[in-house]
Amino acid sequence: MASVKSPGLILKKIPFSDSSLILKVFTRESGLITLIAKGAKQPKSKFRGLLDFFTLDQFIYPEKSKSEIHTLMDAGLIREFPRLKSDPGRQSLGHVFMELYLKYMSEPAQSHPHYELLVERLEQLDEAGADFDPVLHLCDFLLGLCSLSGFSPQFTICVQCGREATGFRVRLDPDLGGPVCGACGGAGAGGSGIAFPGRLLRWLDRLQDSGVRAGRLPREEEVLAETFLLSFLGKHAGGARPMKSLDFYHEMLGAA
Ligand SMILES: [Zn+2]
Repeated sequence: MASVKSPGLILKKIPFSDSSLILKVFTRESGLITLIAKGAKQPKSKFRGLLDFFTLDQFIYPEKSKSEIHTLMDAGLIREFPRLKSDPGRQSLGHVFMELYLKYMSEPAQSHPHYELLVERLEQLDEAGADFDPVLHLCDFLLGLCSLSGFSPQFTICVQCGREATGFRVRLDPDLGGPVCGACGGAGAGGSGIAFPGRLLRWLDRLQDSGVRAGRLPREEEVLAETFLLSFLGKHAGGARPMKSLDFYHEMLGAA
């Protein structure tokens, strides 16, 4: 029986019967797949010590299966993300990254760039200094996910008149994916959207170009950007979906 060998990240684990686990895994070769690790909960299982969150594992599974659940034939550890595994703050954000994939991509979502984005961003989160800024990392991840999914917001010109949006306060419209200038009914004119200080727009533009090197802004402004990006993603990926990991991450953020 032909099999596939692929590195992958476990996004979700669901207990199945007394002894087995069902895994949602984002693999490099097959995208998002469902695997069953038979007997994984038994003490002498060959999967013992493997199949953790925040590790990159090698998965071996049949190339073709009768059902959508493939039987995991073998697994091995490639590398761990040690700080992600031990630091609850990093972990809560890592779970948000993973749940975003689960909620906004449908199986099999075969895409090397999506696989690479997830591995790279988890790596970045693992390697960040102790003073890392979770909101910065989340905004960066959301921009990356939107871009790979084929829709990106822009932060420089008014979506209605095309003029450069430099006003002190503009409105960012999640439907149109960009700023609306004062003259076209920006902030203060009612309507939907989130009022943005100009420097937050410039920050998002830098973030889109150069990732987390864009540096940080005051937390309350970054949180506005996060809210906008989540709402933008929801509108363009078929509707916003409630995410447990996001609630937990916000609790962690509030407690920090
Ligand atoms: Zn305008």
